[in-house]
Amino acid sequence: MISLASITLFWRSEQAYIEVTTDLFMTPYLFFDHNATTFLDPRVADAVAELGDVPLNPSSVHRFGREAKLIMERARKEVREALSVPPSDYEVVFASSGTEANNMALFGFPDHALFVSATEHPSVLQAAQSRGGVVIPVDKNGIICLDELDILLSESKRPPLVSVMIANNETGVIQPMQEIIERVHDKGGIVHTDAVQALGKIPVSVEALLPDMLTISSHKIGGPSGAAALVLARHLKPEPLLFGGGQERGIRPGTENVRAVHGFAVALSLAKERQVKMESLAHLRGSMESQLKELGAVIHGSHSLRLPNTSYITMPGVSYETQIIHFDLAGIAVSAGSACSSGRISASHVLQAMGVSEEAALATIRVSFGPELSEDGIDRFVRAWKALCERVSGGAG
Ligand code: PLP
Repeated sequence: MISLASITLFWRSEQAYIEVTTDLFMTPYLFFDHNATTFLDPRVADAVAELGDVPLNPSSVHRFGREAKLIMERARKEVREALSVPPSDYEVVFASSGTEANNMALFGFPDHALFVSATEHPSVLQAAQSRGGVVIPVDKNGIICLDELDILLSESKRPPLVSVMIANNETGVIQPMQEIIERVHDKGGIVHTDAVQALGKIPVSVEALLPDMLTISSHKIGGPSGAAALVLARHLKPEPLLFGGGQERGIRPGTENVRAVHGFAVALSLAKERQVKMESLAHLRGSMESQLKELGAVIHGSHSLRLPNTSYITMPGVSYETQIIHFDLAGIAVSAGSACSSGRISASHVLQAMGVSEEAALATIRVSFGPELSEDGIDRFVRAWKALCERVSGGAG
């Protein structure tokens, strides 16, 4: 039995993982759930701490207010730099979360016909459902069906708003955004793209893609929760979700979360460094996946371009709960390929959209590595996987 009193948590300076010391095992606890959220980068934590306890309301005209305003404007500049945003064509609106920014984009244009891909994050998919949006199917590799998109666009009676994520949070599958954006623009529509998972893992450039709207979120790149941004083409005037003050040009009223935005800005300044480290993980992931495949694992989305840190793996016949508990006891944090809503566990909508059976989907876990992954981490994961396979095939699972 692990007693809570015996658990010590502390950051490693390079934020690779937390170390958990218990009576049972003296090995570091590996955090392989970086697509869910990330460690706060110590440089971000220091920068936020340096702000101290000063009252920071950018609407105030006194010196504290002016300081707060300056922090917000510096952060806007940081978003522009991190994403190569052409300054005169786009504006940056801060929000509290990627979820909020996605909702701002989707509900901001009620006169447009809405189309979203079947594998979007729930913050897009459910917003689209509640707004009568149409779902664009994906193929078995998780890639949006471009022919279907073309048909939907040509049949649309109203100007289309299409929302497709750059990279999927479960599979890591990367969409052909350039092609999607060109097709929608050719039909006179506008495109929103959710770049929450892509940022800090692969290059994201507004200048190169020219989407009409793009969402990013702070806590996925080593920043604090409570900050996100919607980058949007300057000529667009979305209806606000909230009404109140004139903050963020009235598009997102409410006193700004200046401390979180400041932390977000510092995390953005480090995003490139994070991306370079993440890109180097592809070979470690490849080595892990080939070893697991030999043990009977199925990897989803592996025929498509994927984020370098993400692997979505089925261990046939073994429920995701058994797997998560097993890995947790082996000192490794992974997450489920399923969602829990109203107390009911359902198979991942992403896998179902890719034609994966419910049974297989409920035997799937997601592994998402952080920038400091080592060969040793991979070895431990593969050993733990093997141990579970052996236990289950021996009838103990
Ligand atoms: N979009 C994607 C692809 C995500 O993975 C997430 C979070 O998991 C979100 C949006 C929502 O972001 P937030 O947690 O900041 O609300």
